[in-house]
Amino acid sequence: MIIGIRPLCTQCKSKPRSYGYKKGTKIYWRKLCDTCNRKKKKLKIGGVTALQRSGYRKNSKCELCGFKAQDQLQLDVLFIDGNKNNVNATNLKTVCANCQRLASVKHLRWKVGDLEVDV
Ligand SMILES: [Zn+2]
Ligand SMILES: [Zn+2]
Repeated sequence: MIIGIRPLCTQCKSKPRSYGYKKGTKIYWRKLCDTCNRKKKKLKIGGVTALQRSGYRKNSKCELCGFKAQDQLQLDVLFIDGNKNNVNATNLKTVCANCQRLASVKHLRWKVGDLEVDV
C-alpha cells in the first residue's frame, strides 16, 4: 500500500487535494484543494473576513439589550443589511449571542439611520 501520495487539485493543479474520506484502506480525495474548496464556497480565504479587514472593534456591551460582556467572545457582530461584505460602520452592530440568535430568527432589520457610530 502506498501512503502519502496525494493527487493534485484539479483546479489550481499546484496544491494537493483535500482529504475526502477513507474506505477500507483506500483514501478518496476530494477534487479540489482546501483553498479552491473554500473559494468555491465563497468562504473566507486565509482566515480573514471582510469584517476583520475593516478593523471593526466590538463594543463592550450588546447594543440591543445592553448586556455587558465579561468576555468579547460573548458578543457577536450583526450585519444590519445581512450582507457580510458590507463592513461600513453604519452596517455593524455589537450584539450578544442571545440577540444575535433572536435576530436570525426574527430577521430583524434595523434602519441604518437609527445607528450611532462608535468612535
Ligand atoms: Zn486548488
Ligand atoms: Zn443582547
